[in-house]
Amino acid sequence: MNNDQNILTDQFGRVHDYLRISLTERCNLRCFYCMPEEGIVLRPRSEFMSKDEIVSIANTFVALGVKKIRLTGGEPLVRNDAKEIINELSKLPIELAITTNGILVDKFIDTFKANRMNSINVSLDSLQENKLNKITRRNYFKSIYSNIQRLIREDFHVKINAVIMRGVNDDEIIDFIEFTKDNKVHFRFIEFMPFDGNKWDWSKGISYKEMMAIVNNNFKEKVSKIEDKKNDTAKNYQIDRYKGTFAVISSVTNPFCDSCNRIRLTADGRLKNCLFSGSETDLLTPFRNGIDVQPLIIESIWRKKERRSGMETITQFSDSALHSNNRSMVSIGG
Ligand code: SAM
Ligand code: SF4
Repeated sequence: MNNDQNILTDQFGRVHDYLRISLTERCNLRCFYCMPEEGIVLRPRSEFMSKDEIVSIANTFVALGVKKIRLTGGEPLVRNDAKEIINELSKLPIELAITTNGILVDKFIDTFKANRMNSINVSLDSLQENKLNKITRRNYFKSIYSNIQRLIREDFHVKINAVIMRGVNDDEIIDFIEFTKDNKVHFRFIEFMPFDGNKWDWSKGISYKEMMAIVNNNFKEKVSKIEDKKNDTAKNYQIDRYKGTFAVISSVTNPFCDSCNRIRLTADGRLKNCLFSGSETDLLTPFRNGIDVQPLIIESIWRKKERRSGMETITQFSDSALHSNNRSMVSIGG
C-alpha cells in the first residue's frame, strides 16, 4: 500500500489525510477555556503511548494515506522525549507541524530547524501580560511573547491562535490585527467551543459575523478577503499593506465539516474521528496485543458523522448532555 491512496474516506466522500497526535494530556498552563478548574486526573504513564508506539501507529496512518501530522496536546513540548519523537516522525513522508503554547519554544528551535518544521502554531489569547496570565492561570507571558518574536526573526511561518471570548479579549481584536502590521504572522481568531469542564455558554462566545463587524467597522475598505486553501478551517483576510494576515475559525457558527480531513489520536491512543465526538476507537490496546489496527482505523473513519458528530445547531451544542461525554480539550488534543 502506498500513501497516495485515499483509503481513509468516509461515507460522505471526505478523504482524511491530516492526523493530529496529542503527545500528552499534561500542560504547563491552565487556560480556563481548555483545562477544567479542578485540573485533570493524572493517570499512570503506562496508559499513554510511548515514543515507539507513537511512531509505529503514525506509520500505520501514513500507510493509509496520511500526508500531514500535527503534534499537539496538552502541551506537546513538556514531554521529556518530545525531541526524539520529532526526530523520528520527521523521517516519514509527511509534513510535520506543531501547535504549542510557546513557553518552551526556545529549547526546540534547533530541533524544528533540523527536522524542517517550518510551520509553528502558537497560542496567545492576549497581548496584555496581566490578562494573559489571568486566562492561563500562570505567569509566562514574557517567555511566550519573546519566543513568538524569535520564531518571526528566524523566519518560521508563525500562526497565532487566540480564542475570542466576550468580556475577556474581544476588546483586543483590533490590537491583534495591528500586530500583523509589522509582523509577518497569521493571527487566527477561534470561536469559543464547548468541551467537558469548560462551562461553555454561547453568550461568552463571539461569532465570526460579530468579529468581522468589529474589523470592518475599524478598517473599512482596507480589509480584503484572501483565498482560503482547500480543507482550510479558517476564513482568511488581510489589511492593505500589512505584512501579516488574519483569519476566523468559525467552528460554532459556520462549521467546516464538509471539507474536514482531520483525524485525532489522543495521548492514550484513542482515535477520534471528530473533535466533538463522544465515541472513540481504542487503538493502543489492540496494538499492544499485536492486533493489526488498520481495519479499526478504516472502520472508524467510515462511521464519521456528517456534521459535528451529530450536533448541528448551537442549541444542541448548548445541551451539556450531548457534549459532556466528550473529553476536555486538554485531553483531546486541539
Ligand atoms: N498547548 C498547545 C496550545 O495551547 O497551543 C496545544 C494544545 S491546545 C488544546 C490547541 C488549541 O486549542 C489552542 O490554540 C487553544 O487555544 C485551542 N482551544 C482550547 N480550548 C478551546 C476552546 N474551548 N475553544 C476553542 N479553542 C480552544
Ligand atoms: Fe494548555 Fe494549550 Fe490547553 Fe492552554 S490551550 S491549557 S496551553 S493545552
